[in-house]
Amino acid sequence: MLLTDSVRQIKNIGEKRVEQLAKLGIFTVLDLIEYIPRDYDDRSDVKTISELAPDEVHTFKATTGRAETMGVGGKTVTKIKLKDATGEIDAVWFNQPYIKHNFKQGSEYIFTGRVQLKYGRPQIEVSDYEITDKELLSNGIIVPIYPSTYKLSQKTLRSIIKDTLHQISHLVEDYLPDTIKQQYTLCDKRFALHNIHFPESNDSFFVARRRLVFEEFFLLQLTLFRMKGDIKSKKDGVPFAPVSVTPLQDMFAYTLTRAQATVLDELMTDLQSGYVTNRLIQGDVGSGKTAVAMLAAYVAIQNGYQAVLMAPTDVLAVQHFHSFVPYFEKLSLHVVVLTGSLKQKEKRQVCAQIANGEAQMIIGTHAVIQTAVEYHKLGLVITDEQHRFGVRQRAMLREKGTNPHVVVMTATPIPRTLGLILYGDLDISIIDELPPGRQKIDTSAVTSAYHERIYTFIKSQLDSGRQAYIICPQIEDDEEEGAKKAVLSYTAYLSEQALAGYTVDCVHGKMKNDAKQDIMTRFSEGHIQVLVATTVIEVGINVPNATIMLIENADRFGLAQLHQLRGRVGRGADKSYCILVSDAKSKISKDRLKVMTQSGDGFYISEKDLALRGPGDFFGTRQHGLPELKIANLYRDMDILKEAQKAAEQFTTASLGTFVFPPSWQRNEFFTI
Ligand code: ADP
Ligand code: MG
Repeated sequence: MLLTDSVRQIKNIGEKRVEQLAKLGIFTVLDLIEYIPRDYDDRSDVKTISELAPDEVHTFKATTGRAETMGVGGKTVTKIKLKDATGEIDAVWFNQPYIKHNFKQGSEYIFTGRVQLKYGRPQIEVSDYEITDKELLSNGIIVPIYPSTYKLSQKTLRSIIKDTLHQISHLVEDYLPDTIKQQYTLCDKRFALHNIHFPESNDSFFVARRRLVFEEFFLLQLTLFRMKGDIKSKKDGVPFAPVSVTPLQDMFAYTLTRAQATVLDELMTDLQSGYVTNRLIQGDVGSGKTAVAMLAAYVAIQNGYQAVLMAPTDVLAVQHFHSFVPYFEKLSLHVVVLTGSLKQKEKRQVCAQIANGEAQMIIGTHAVIQTAVEYHKLGLVITDEQHRFGVRQRAMLREKGTNPHVVVMTATPIPRTLGLILYGDLDISIIDELPPGRQKIDTSAVTSAYHERIYTFIKSQLDSGRQAYIICPQIEDDEEEGAKKAVLSYTAYLSEQALAGYTVDCVHGKMKNDAKQDIMTRFSEGHIQVLVATTVIEVGINVPNATIMLIENADRFGLAQLHQLRGRVGRGADKSYCILVSDAKSKISKDRLKVMTQSGDGFYISEKDLALRGPGDFFGTRQHGLPELKIANLYRDMDILKEAQKAAEQFTTASLGTFVFPPSWQRNEFFTI
């Protein structure tokens, strides 16, 4: 038998079982032994009858005596007398008259159940039992509880897995090199598999789990390093000739910050190296990533290549388009925008220009990487606000053109450990400085009792010519959630009452792209004074005249998200304000909002958020195009992740080339990107 064989090959597994297991996603022997328990019930503390305390669940061994079934008010009660050297107790079952046939009088069994006193006599309502002359499965040990069993009982699944572990133990190969196991004191694979299903003790469970988590992280990290290595070793990246960026840079109304200049240098070195560039540019909100992107695109175009800038939303793509055009037009470079909301005819036109090379700078949403779009000579792909794109999408991008250089930009601060996983295939540059003269955004956290005062303050800002954003957690009122502010009803309330006399309008994710675009344009041109919105405006929007942001039900957002939202103000010369309204009472909510009032540093905020709230779905692996992890958790197992990364880092330089990945891992869709 092989681990890759169908479960049909396992002794005692017939067609019906095969079907039932398939429902659990278990097809091969390996799937079965890698079906990890979701929890455990520690029934290893075996008592004697005299030790049983009422109203508690206990496990004990006893010999069976006489059985009887009685009818009581339409129900049946089955009782079996149990005894051991220390005493006697009745085992009871309700409405299971047949149960007594499962027992042989005078034999020893082990029972688990809740002990109760009935009419002064102790009895036990049995939840699990088994005979003691076989290896124990569900009593007297730490019992695994599987995530789902479909039509199998936990007991049956346990028994199948236990049998299988015995049968295939000799087939389990250990893919972790001995040196690493020694260095990180990891147990061997067989021990780990046995003990993850049937822990011999608490300690051996932890030892087993640590080993399996380590292995999973190690393989993942190694795969990412390998991907990066592959890209490097291909070497056939287009080497760009050095180009002076002065013509473009001189048009900027500002000089680059030291950090922007450094990152630009790093990028230029990459682009000229002859290797394919894969660089992540991480820079806090407002640090000026767009300028760096523009300069890099300029270099690509001067080298005779096309450059693409890909944004996560139509609105952001169009905004980028408007900020590129004035510069590029003066340099006689042709910029096009390609989004989902273009009319068919326009789209065809743009695509034709992309295909014949007329379009030099292409800005758009992920429409730009769809297969229908053909490039004339693509040399550089930049993706903005990268956290919306995953590892897989990046890989897809690389397939366009002949190894175009890839630059991704993000404002999402990510601790290094996670960066290595989520961006393990990238080199990282950080813009760690904001342009000079930025004022701190005055942030306060208040309850809804302050609304009147807030409106008065907003009016005073509007009267002096500024604009405001008001963010709500949802679009429409919701019966159940009643009290939460919703975009549609709140916009009506503001324009008719609280802010009557001012122009108030709204934008949200359910609007058509054209309508959204129209609102954004009118807001950025100053025709709309107050923009009520959902988080659709979270990413990248740049309207420097907007100086106030009011966030309703602020506790509903993650801190990283609040930080992004807040980054929409404070983009011009005027003092900006952010007001977080929340009536949430819990200490944790209050602490989180307090972090926002104390700091404007995205890195600090995201680490605090992690510490206070734990993982949001933001860091879910699927979302980032990473494979689903079977046992490891990117957050809870952060310490093991760090160790596994260290091991993988040491390992890559030494002998990544000769490392054999487990076959199951190689079948992973992710591995074959
Ligand atoms: P982000 O990094 O969040 O994408 P942007 O690129 O949108 O930031 O830049 C934010 C604002 O800062 C823009 O209005 C841009 O013109 C301005 N800016 C960029 N670089 C500088 C600089 N070196 N000095 C002054 N202002 C700058
Ligand atoms: Mg940006």
